[in-house]
Amino acid sequence: MRPARALIDLDALRHNYRLARGRHGGRALAVVKANAYGHGAVACARALAPEVDGFAVAFLDEALELRAAGIEQPILLLEGIFDAAELDEVVRHDLWMVVHHAEQIRIIDHAKPALPLDVWLKVNSGMNRAGFMPHELRAAWQRLKDNGRVGSITLMTHFARADEPHVLATSEQVAAFDAATRDLPGPRSLSNSGAILGWPDAHRDWARPGILLYGADPMPGEPNGLRPVMTLESAIMAIREIPAGAPLGYGARFRAERPTRVGLVAMGYADGYPRTVPDGTPVAVDGIRTRLIGRVSMDMLTVDLTDLPDAKLGSRVELWGNNVPVNRIAEAANTIAYELLCNVKRVRFEYAD
Ligand SMILES: *Cc1c(COP(=O)(O)O)cnc(C)c1O
Repeated sequence: MRPARALIDLDALRHNYRLARGRHGGRALAVVKANAYGHGAVACARALAPEVDGFAVAFLDEALELRAAGIEQPILLLEGIFDAAELDEVVRHDLWMVVHHAEQIRIIDHAKPALPLDVWLKVNSGMNRAGFMPHELRAAWQRLKDNGRVGSITLMTHFARADEPHVLATSEQVAAFDAATRDLPGPRSLSNSGAILGWPDAHRDWARPGILLYGADPMPGEPNGLRPVMTLESAIMAIREIPAGAPLGYGARFRAERPTRVGLVAMGYADGYPRTVPDGTPVAVDGIRTRLIGRVSMDMLTVDLTDLPDAKLGSRVELWGNNVPVNRIAEAANTIAYELLCNVKRVRFEYAD
């Protein structure tokens, strides 16, 4: 059997949820959109269900997958509904939804009276992506109140730069949110992972931790007690010696500087390991760090075993996990851990409870 697999440590997930909730105070929605950032939404939701305050996903189908798996906790749709048919499903499955756009209020206005809806009304406090402008907020809130179908309204916003501890943008967004919502009652929710760790001023009633749950610090730096949840690993499937000067792999990007013992690893970009990483990117073979050499191919990649005389066929290769932080690979690939984790596919997923 091909040894490529993603090991998911559900105990680390629970640990990280507790850490996020504790750092923020109040309640926390575990963000499990995009298949729990590539970790498996149903398995992660089941692991958190006994203690979680609720879940957040991006859109209806992601919530229905959780409901079908027996998840009964509150689930918030972060993008809200796209049409009236989705509102019927929201009612049927007792979901919460973000309302960020006037069209969504129009849909609610025209819906048949049903259960009181739980709405999270989103303010654009400066990211300028989604949400009502501060001057539109009061009218939006009033329309929701007046139509008789809305039970509770939570006020929320989202930060553009919470992972940048030294810029003022987040404080400005908090101030804009507070000004826009000053006279309105109801719980508040501002903080994503970056704000949970870095912006105590943004802590209110509900946190919305995503990447933190999976153990990747959005602001890598100080140790923070997070535990990586995913270990992406495979094994050495072949070994060869190449002489100094020999090319290796597609495009001959790498040329051996010395006689080199090359380990071939069953893992490629079709599995989600990024093709763009350079020679020298860290990997761990049987727990010892070495370097990737040569271009990553679709199904395979190559690593330098010259200084690892004990490495052999079947030696375990960690692409990221406890020995190689996923943030380090993200940096090498010029992206963020979020994207790498979401992209893992084709490998076997194995869950440890
Ligand atoms: C994805 C998302 C989050 C979680 O963000 P992280 O940076 O992963 O913690 C929180 N709130 C909203 C609105 C989101 O879309």
